[in-house]
Amino acid sequence: MILPGATLGMLGGGQLGRMFTTAAQTMGYKVIVLDPDKNSPAGIIADKHICASYTDESALTELAQHCAAITTEFENIPASTLAFLENRTVVHPSSTALTNTQNRNIEKNFIRAQGIATVPFVSIYNRDDITNSSDQISFPAILKVATFGYDGKGQIVCEDLQAVYEAFEALGQKECVLEQRIDLEREISVVLARGKDGQITAFPVAENVHINGILHSTTVPSDAAEKQQQTAIEMASKIAAGLNYIGTMAVEFFVSRQGEIIANEIAPRPHNSGHYTLDACATSQFEQQVRMLCGLPAGSAELTTPVVMINLLGDVWGNSQPHWDQLLIQPDIKLHLYGKKEARAGRKMGHYNVLAINTTTAMQLATQTFSAIKAD
Ligand code: ADP
Ligand code: MG
Repeated sequence: MILPGATLGMLGGGQLGRMFTTAAQTMGYKVIVLDPDKNSPAGIIADKHICASYTDESALTELAQHCAAITTEFENIPASTLAFLENRTVVHPSSTALTNTQNRNIEKNFIRAQGIATVPFVSIYNRDDITNSSDQISFPAILKVATFGYDGKGQIVCEDLQAVYEAFEALGQKECVLEQRIDLEREISVVLARGKDGQITAFPVAENVHINGILHSTTVPSDAAEKQQQTAIEMASKIAAGLNYIGTMAVEFFVSRQGEIIANEIAPRPHNSGHYTLDACATSQFEQQVRMLCGLPAGSAELTTPVVMINLLGDVWGNSQPHWDQLLIQPDIKLHLYGKKEARAGRKMGHYNVLAINTTTAMQLATQTFSAIKAD
């Protein structure tokens, strides 16, 4: 076990790295963040910030020398970077886990190999693949870049085959996946922690609403049928075991109108839909990440209260600060801001958790507060 006093490494300085850093420091660990941005949310609160690219070998060597263990908050860290660090210190998740999750085609094939359903899809490398896809996909469909897409970026909805050719051009003819667009009953996700011993501790299933491909709200407990929630947890656990995963990870699922549970994507890190755990579970997903990295047993994942999490995107800012007073006067709303200077549309700036006796009440207060804080 790696115990308090030790130094932990974090690859990536975004909000997920920041919340890991806070959790680790609370428990008495030191944290070094490596991120190329000098103002990164995690870098500015870490014990030390190494401001360098993820491929800078001297920076990686320095990180490895000081850290008892290293983890990441960002699936697009080159797998070669993790492999380089793995030769020098403890690294979780592994480079193999990242390789299986950073490309949508590899990821979907991996999920299917575990016997778990994905949406019908075709890998697209060139125009011929589009021509040949017509007997496998019906429309509407979505063309997505295979790598580096997030928050709905790099995705184009296509109504017919001609639109797919055009979308492929628009996406720069990069490797893509063409997915059938599913008629959704709801979206749910499972955030879980898996330890070195293979022990899995799943948080309660989260129910998610996306707007323009970006997470807007998470509600827990979910309204999905108990059986569906169990299935999702079993599927996520199978995926975690298949990846030999160590750390906190998430799997996003679609629930189709027919009630089918379909795996959408894997996040090899804590997940936006797990931010509710910060205020509504006995242990947060970030403390869990620290615990898994350090070889400690998982903390209790028990839900302590119904909760609704709302994301705060840059859109809420307008030309000035949101009316925080309208949120902070509420005794059961917890505000989390990530310390980002510039509020751009679609940029994740923070979130808040609304705690209430049931999710209906929590959602009412969440919605009311969302309108009240919006800057003029
Ligand atoms: P990202 O990596 O940007 O999160 P996702 O593949 O999860 O990409 O897509 C973002 C959101 O877009 C999903 O949560 C869902 O709301 C919608 N979406 C994506 N793919 C599909 C699909 N095949 N059918 C229906 N909705 C989809
Ligand atoms: Mg997603």
